[in-house]
Amino acid sequence: MDYERLKQKLVVYSQSIGVDKLRITTADPFLSLKDRLIQQQERGYASGFEHPILDERVDPSLSLKEVRTIISIAVAYPSKLANAPKSEKGSRRGFFSRSSWGIDYHDVLNDRLKKIEQFLFVECGTVETVRMVDTGALSDRAVAERAGIGWSAKNTFIITPELGSYVFLGNILTTLPFPPDEPIEDLCGSCQKCIDACPTGALVEPGVLNAQACLSYQTQTKGFMPEEYRSKIGNHLYGWDTCQLVCPYNKNKDHHQHEEMKPDPEKVKPLLLPLLTMSNKTFKAEFGHMAGSWRGKKPIQRNAIIALAHYKEESALPTLLDLLIKDPRPVIRGTSAWAIGKISKSEKEEKALEDAKKNEQDENVLNEIEKGLSFIREKK
Ligand code: SF4
Repeated sequence: MDYERLKQKLVVYSQSIGVDKLRITTADPFLSLKDRLIQQQERGYASGFEHPILDERVDPSLSLKEVRTIISIAVAYPSKLANAPKSEKGSRRGFFSRSSWGIDYHDVLNDRLKKIEQFLFVECGTVETVRMVDTGALSDRAVAERAGIGWSAKNTFIITPELGSYVFLGNILTTLPFPPDEPIEDLCGSCQKCIDACPTGALVEPGVLNAQACLSYQTQTKGFMPEEYRSKIGNHLYGWDTCQLVCPYNKNKDHHQHEEMKPDPEKVKPLLLPLLTMSNKTFKAEFGHMAGSWRGKKPIQRNAIIALAHYKEESALPTLLDLLIKDPRPVIRGTSAWAIGKISKSEKEEKALEDAKKNEQDENVLNEIEKGLSFIREKK
């Protein structure tokens, strides 16, 4: 079998199924990544969303015993929202990060990768493969870097010279001995715009992210959001794009070639207030297809409450008061109490918080009620 020719055929085929870039690397272990991951753990910078077994994260043969090569693909996504609805007093809106626009990229990329697997089966007969998109054992970014999809940038994203960093990554481990591609040059140079623009200093060094301080991570947690981040997330319901937006390599990059990635303005910039009382069923029907819904309804609702506080949206007060008293989830009751204090300066809400305090058992919620009360009293 002429694997160089097969590779060229595969590249052409991948373009016909909506893959924007395809490169191949060896199946050697990612040894330098191992040191970085150990350091990340030791410094407390991991998010906890990572694959739990370190050796599996760096050794492809633990995912596929006879692995010879890894195919890495990139699919570009849009960065600009046409016809974005306005966020106005009385009808404030939140915002989903660009990585959540359109249909969940895990599904979109898995679909492309399945077609590539099928192509290989037809061409080669016997071949073993393992697909990975984001949630697999290996780091998609480490694979893409070594395969030459792009360079591993100071903002920790893979930047492709052609498409910027607005690309989703996926890979397939194969038992086929394709000739590998070479990594490409790191073109960040002396730039450090992403590091300077990060509002929490989460990019602690070039290419080193403290995930715990990253606002994207903070929008995805399920518990109470630490106070220091609440004022920073603004109207963000899911994810954070600043470190990509400021990057010069993303200037004028806005990819709309894939129908599945097309953003629905009402979904990516939804009204905040209806989110607060949305049933699980409606949430699933409205947002279940988006990557940003992967942690369920609660983090999105918590972030919507924080966003309403950010806007000081008085029309939200009746709903927030209702949530404070009736919602079974402490995070929602407590965040509502905090938001009521941020929005209101009236005795009516002060009294409502005092009343809620008498019936509240949860210590964290009581703490948030106290904060809410002090915000109101500070304004007198
Ligand atoms: Fe690299 Fe500058 Fe882009 Fe950061 S903003 S990723 S330093 S080019």
